[in-house]
Parts: sequence; C-alpha cells; structure tokens
Amino acid sequence: TASAIQGWALAHTYQELPEEFYAAAAPTPVKAPQLELLNPALAQALGLDVAGPEAGLSELFAGNALPEGSLPIAMAYAGHQFGHFTMLGDGRAILLGEQQAPDGKSYDIQLKGAGITPFSRRGDGRATYAAMLREYLISEAMHHLGIPTSRSLAVARTGEQVYRDPIQDGAVLTRVSSSHLRVGTFEYARRFLPADAQKALLAYAIKRHYPELLGTSQPALDLLKAVMARQAKLIAQWMGVGFIHGVMNTDNIGIAAETFDYGPCAFMNAYYPGTVFSSIDTTGRYAYGNQPQMGHWGLAVFASALLPLIHEDQDEAVKLAQATVNQFPELYEAQWKQAMASKLGLDEAGAEEEALIKDLLRWMQQNEADYTNTFRYLTDGSGPGAARCEQDAFREWESRWKSHIEQQAGGMAQARETMARNNPAYIPRNHLVEDALKEAAAGDKSRFEALLSVLSDPYTLQPGQESYQLPPDGGDFGFKTYCG
Ligand code: AMP
Ligand code: MG
Ligand code: MG
Repeated sequence: TASAIQGWALAHTYQELPEEFYAAAAPTPVKAPQLELLNPALAQALGLDVAGPEAGLSELFAGNALPEGSLPIAMAYAGHQFGHFTMLGDGRAILLGEQQAPDGKSYDIQLKGAGITPFSRRGDGRATYAAMLREYLISEAMHHLGIPTSRSLAVARTGEQVYRDPIQDGAVLTRVSSSHLRVGTFEYARRFLPADAQKALLAYAIKRHYPELLGTSQPALDLLKAVMARQAKLIAQWMGVGFIHGVMNTDNIGIAAETFDYGPCAFMNAYYPGTVFSSIDTTGRYAYGNQPQMGHWGLAVFASALLPLIHEDQDEAVKLAQATVNQFPELYEAQWKQAMASKLGLDEAGAEEEALIKDLLRWMQQNEADYTNTFRYLTDGSGPGAARCEQDAFREWESRWKSHIEQQAGGMAQARETMARNNPAYIPRNHLVEDALKEAAAGDKSRFEALLSVLSDPYTLQPGQESYQLPPDGGDFGFKTYCG
C-alpha cells in the first residue's frame, strides 16, 4: 500500500540540526482509515501521482502506511501562548519529510492528528474530522485569495472517535508548508540549547527561507528584518480580506511568514475592529484590529530570542534589536495602505488616499456594513452590498472617491480592474462553513464540496452562486470558534 502514491522525493534537512530540535515519532495506526478529501492540483504541484488504489491512499493519509523515504519526527519548539512562555513541540503533528517539488522548492509534509508524540503532554494527539475539514477549507480558500499559507493535501477519517465535547469522529489532515520553523523554534533554542544550536538554527532558517542573506555580515539582524517585512505584508493581506487568525501565539508565527495553524480562525462579516470569534480568546487579544500589534509583539519576542546571535555585547544587541523592531509599525502601515489603496483602485497611497480609506472604514463601522460586500459593491456597482450603500453619507463619500479616481490616468475602468483583483466576492463566511461542516460530519459532503469550489475562484463573480455572498441573517454576534 505504501506505493499508492508515486513521486515521493523526501529530504530531511531539518534533521541535520542538532538532535534536540526533534524527536522520532511515528504515526499511530488507526482502526478504519478512510480517505475523504484529496487535493489533486496540490498533489500535482508537489510531483505526486495519486492515481493509486483508494485503499492505499486511505492508509497513507491516515498514517497507517508511510511514504517511501519518510523519517517521521515531531518538532521541538516553545512559544508565548497568550503572552506566557511555554515549552510545546508538535503534540499531534508528525513531519514525514520535505518533498522536493518540481518547482525546485521543498515542502514539509505533515500529518496533523496522527497520534501522540513525545510532546503531546496531556493531549490525545488526535483531531476531529470537522476541525480538519475546516482547516482544509479555509487554508485552501486563503491560497486562492492569494495569501501565503500552509495548504491541505488530504483529509482521512480514522474510524475512531475523539473525546471532545461532544464526542466526534477523528481525522488526519495532511498539511503542506514551506516549513514549520516558527518564532517559537528560536525561543526554544534560546532558552534551552547551547550557542552552537542557536547558530545552527539561524543558518538553517537563512539557507532554507532567505538564501539572499547567505554570507551577510549581520545574519541574525538581517533575518529579523526580512521576517518582519514578510510578516508585515502577510498581516496587511489578512486585514484586507477580513481574516482573523485567532491565535497569533509565537509558536504560530512562521519564519517563512505563511499563514498556519487554522484552529479558531474566522472571517469578519460586518466591519468592526473588535471582532473576535475564538472561544478561548476571552480578552480579545487577537481581535481583528489587534493583529498588527500582536504581530509586532511576536516579532519583538523573535528579536529577543535572537539577541545572543545579534551581537556579542548584549547591551549593543538590545539596542540593535529594539531599533529594528521599532520599525514594524511603519513597515506594516505602508503595506496596509498599499493593500487598502488597491481595494479602492487608488494608484497611490498618500495622505488623501489614506483619508478616503479611513473615512470609508468609519462609515462601515458606524453602519455595520459588510466588509467584503461593500468593497465588492464599489467594484461591481451592484451586489448584496448595494442596499446599505443607498445612504446619503455613503453617497457623499462615494462621490469624493469617484472624483479622485477620475483624476487618475486609467480612470474608473482601470480602477475597477485593480479592484476586481483585490476584492473577493466570496470568503468562507462562518455560517456557510458551519453548515457545510455539520452536513459533512453527518455524512454528506456535497455542501462542503460546493463551498470549496466557489472559494477556489473567489475574485470572479460566479453566476448562480449569489447566496455565497450573503452575510448571515441578523449578523454573527456571538458566533464562536473552537480548536478541535
Ligand atoms: P495551538 O494552540 O493549536 O498552536 O497548539 C498548541 C500546542 O498544543 C501545540 O504544541 C500542539 O501540538 C498541542 N496540541 C493541540 N492539540 C493537541 C492534542 N489533541 N494532542 C496533543 N497535543 C495537542
Ligand atoms: Mg500551533
Ligand atoms: Mg492548532
């Protein structure tokens, strides 16, 4: 059955790091593996031929059979969870290896929910079918929105129950990402490992993700700057589509700056910066509007983990690190203004443009306007956002915006083209996701597949799919997400 997939080319460069960075951890076989979802386009991009017999695919994607050349491990890392330092490590994810893809890049292939590891603490190492479907759907939606993200190759049910409230079916998700190096990996090295190990990690991160920094005279500081730049852009992209990650703990902030760890994430409907859906985020630490500040905070933690590598004189290191981290708000602001200007078809992102953006957001907040549909109304001149936009206050803003656009070289036609590429018509709205998951968990995936299909082309209006643009009746105040 291990040959159900052809094309494996697994490397294990992570295991060239000192052995404290990981622990051997094989997936625990499950009772009745059943492949439920497979991502053929992603398989192809990875150079994998998945035409083998379904039974074999089920065994592989549930962790009962290992791909050729795999050397399964759990990664060690620490992290600040809601502000508090903790030793963590992969408690329910197992890295099979790094697939060398036809695009010349390598991708971590990880089984999430594959059983306990040396880092499981009191956890069961398992995941629910509903939560893995949710991660599959939202991570793929993010990819199609054009936002860097981990991706999902497959979901297989285990035929076993997981003890959550209520008891649910278990499943394994195959997660694919540029790597699972995170801020927390550096925190772990700084706190628990000798200088050599910290240096090895730094060199590895640069070689794997920032090869342009090879041979630089200040590798740690330059890595910090490079990660900050990518994170600033990533978070600005989240803000642009109304994405709320929900758990921006430092173990979930990637060095390659891909979105990952899809637990309690959700998309905002009505524009409100305080929007928070995660059941465990009781103080709103990771609310929509706090994400830039929380990213900044996480990067400050990254900087402090790098201190011994930044300068041998620690006072000097602190000075350098602080001066660098202090640049984050400016970096982020520039990315955000750029992203928002594109959503309004604005060629520049100066003071006048910024005023237009902020005035629109203020109007949206005051009027509980749907974030996605307001921008899409401006893009198309029609759609479900139209009714709310009848208001005088909106019309005043709109005429200001229109006259600004008319002064641009490309006029409204070109602005609309830009806007259509930057304003999705479809996002994974909570009520749609929940309905699809409920039916799938009860055995009918048709609604899930339909939603997944709509979300695979989010910037194109799809005839007959208008209902996917609608916000929930009565809003979604009180909607909660959980980590399954
Ligand atoms: P997260 O908040 O999703 O980033 O998870 C924090 C830590 O808890 C990670 O180290 C996970 O591997 C671990 N974890 C989450 N769920 C489980 C589980 N069911 N069993 C074991 N470890 C888990
Ligand atoms: Mg995590
Ligand atoms: Mg998680």
